[in-house]
Amino acid sequence: MDLTLTDEERQVRDWVRTFVTRELMPLEPRVLERERNGERGMTPDQVRGLQDKARRSGFFGIQTPEEYGGMGLGAVMNALIETELGRTFVPFAFAGDADNILFEANEEQKDSYLGPTIEGTRRSCFAITEPGAGSDARNIRTTAVRDGEEWVINGEKTFITGGDVADFAIVFAVTDPDKHREGRSDESVSCFLADREAGWTSAPIPTMGEWGPASLSFQDVRVPHSAILGDEGRGFELAMRWIGKGRYLLPARALGACERLVEMGMDHARNRVTFGEPIANRQAIQWMIADSAVEIEALRWLVLAAAWQVDHAIDSRQAESMAKLHGGVHANQIVDRVLQIHGGMGYTRELPIERWYRELRLLRIYEGTDEMQRRTIARNLLSGHVSVRGHLG
Ligand SMILES: Cc1cc2nc3c(=O)[nH]c(=O)nc-3n(C[C@H](O)[C@H](O)[C@H](O)COP(=O)(O)OP(=O)(O)OC[C@H]3O[C@@H](n4cnc5c(N)ncnc54)[C@H](O)[C@@H]3O)c2cc1C
Repeated sequence: MDLTLTDEERQVRDWVRTFVTRELMPLEPRVLERERNGERGMTPDQVRGLQDKARRSGFFGIQTPEEYGGMGLGAVMNALIETELGRTFVPFAFAGDADNILFEANEEQKDSYLGPTIEGTRRSCFAITEPGAGSDARNIRTTAVRDGEEWVINGEKTFITGGDVADFAIVFAVTDPDKHREGRSDESVSCFLADREAGWTSAPIPTMGEWGPASLSFQDVRVPHSAILGDEGRGFELAMRWIGKGRYLLPARALGACERLVEMGMDHARNRVTFGEPIANRQAIQWMIADSAVEIEALRWLVLAAAWQVDHAIDSRQAESMAKLHGGVHANQIVDRVLQIHGGMGYTRELPIERWYRELRLLRIYEGTDEMQRRTIARNLLSGHVSVRGHLG
């Protein structure tokens, strides 16, 4: 078994590491200051400036296939990049990526939605969750009713990331109520590309995190029949594919945050003297560091194993759910320990630990809660779909 990185993986990883260290980390004090004043950590111009800088070095569309002008990097490479980006809380992503399911668009839709999203001139949001249907996403109530060459959409969506700034929504609605009542959501839900100009409205939802989602309201919003993404009635599968992608990338980002946090914890432990000795000499502190390091290492391999399976077209759903669950649970334990190591200072807004504490909490909720990941993992095992021996058999 070869667990080393290829030369290309190492080069890409090192380039991103340098970018994060030189370009992003110096912005951290300013980002904290702005956020404490109730502003976004960075202005859109600032983000664009950094994205342009990265683009000049070829970093554009890291997940976007080369035929669409991107780098077309694989899942392992993407996981390595996310981990490096996760080492800072500066809210940054390379430009040039689009929602994975937009690549399912027909040529006309690609011109109107995919291309502009890749170029950053249009912004999307992904809208499936509703006030009455989150984990139980098959139970959505938003409807789309055919009226000649148009569909009329009615319903409420909630907790939609980017919903307040998006130019268009990738929105899921019931198009076959009979099948939906029979529980056949694989055939009853369609996916629509709905422009904001079509009439849907949004309102921000304040959260404990720094970038809030929004609720979306659709009241008799008319979109053309050509707004359906993929096949009519087959939207649910697209929704699951969209959500599936984050299952190894979200914990990859958390992995980077945990590495940085434990480094901060160790620095503080070496320097903070109590009762005549650095607290790093105390077993209570050492155990926190040791447990965190073990959990980080386990997360690294869960993330990379899931990404590797994606790259090798192996059914990666079990591995991705495991990475997401482990990441959610342990990143939260780790940030809590690092806060504890810092004592009262850890609880203040002088340091970014409380910020990470709030941000990492979300990992246990969105794109499939811990409980939903456990449900998936247990069901896959109990049905015999996978074995506890993992993909090696
Ligand atoms: C900041 C943020 C951003 C988000 N971004 C998006 C987005 O961009 N697009 C989008 O569509 N959605 C988004 N979401 C929604 C998110 O995916 C849902 O909040 C999540 O799926 C949980 O759904 P819920 O909030 O309705 O909780 P519920 O489904 O009501 O669950 C409540 C609790 O019950 C548990 N539970 C539910 N069912 C079971 C069961 N069968 N067995 C055991 N426990 C169960 C859950 O795990 C949870 O702990 C976002 C949410 C947040 C907070």
